[in-house]
Amino acid sequence: MAAAPKARRLEGKVAIVTASTDGIGFSIARRLGQEGAHVVVSSRKENNVNKAVNQLKSEGIKVSGMVCHVAKEEHRKRLINSTVEQQGGIDIFVSNAAVNPVYGPILDTPEEAWDKIFDVNVKATFLLIKDAVTHMKKRGSGSIVIVSSVGGYVPSELIGAYSVSKTALFGLTKALAPQCARLGIRVNGLAPGLIKTKFSEALWSNEKALKQSTKMLPIARIGLPDECAGAVAFLCSDDSTYITGETMIVAGGMTARL
Ligand code: NAP
Repeated sequence: MAAAPKARRLEGKVAIVTASTDGIGFSIARRLGQEGAHVVVSSRKENNVNKAVNQLKSEGIKVSGMVCHVAKEEHRKRLINSTVEQQGGIDIFVSNAAVNPVYGPILDTPEEAWDKIFDVNVKATFLLIKDAVTHMKKRGSGSIVIVSSVGGYVPSELIGAYSVSKTALFGLTKALAPQCARLGIRVNGLAPGLIKTKFSEALWSNEKALKQSTKMLPIARIGLPDECAGAVAFLCSDDSTYITGETMIVAGGMTARL
């Protein structure tokens, strides 16, 4: 669906993408690699990491991979430190990992679920960015993209706490932008709408539910991971050098505002 890139805007760059062995993260990693970056893919399961690395290698992409469960401090440190050791630095960091362990009315959300959602979706994002910035600032440049969701603008009733965690990421993007700009680093966001991945399977595997959730969209269909990846490549490239603190909505024209 999305066009193959013609430009190689990221030649010589080193890019880390979290949660990048499947879905949107995998498409982002592939696109950054197609544009010339060395990409570091990661996720919780070693076999998924190996599979993603082998696939991207077979496509001629410069890639390495490692296990990183973003809620684990030692995994986060290893992801950042070994990338710097092996690749000499970091130019691009894409925070893509998120969880949603509960469905149901927000008032029924147990405290443990609330903690898990905020630990993975918000706190780990901040802590990884903090460590990535330590290295980016040595180069005096860098680009960070935080993957949130249209749910952060228009909370879904059955995934309330997850939606609020995504709203927090809009705030994190804005809050980081000024300090990072002074270091030469831009921080932007991507807010996907309904995208065809495992994460959203419940919304598209049933034809009736899919029709219901897409019929009001100006582009009345589900989006594809590759359609998110091009937006991220733009935000990581020198085509967006005067853009920071913004979140790009890739949601088929859905009205999404706070
Ligand atoms: P997905 O297809 O289910 O892929 C999830 C990826 O994340 C896998 O590679 C998984 O690999 C990895 N992962 C899961 N938990 C992780 C953790 N704690 N640490 C590191 N990696 C982890 O999901 P997706 O739909 O692409 O979602 C990606 C992002 O887009 C999320 O932030 C999500 O909130 C956002 N989003 C998605 C949609 C949508 O409709 N799909 C809409 C809006 C926003 P392992 O199992 O090996 O860890």
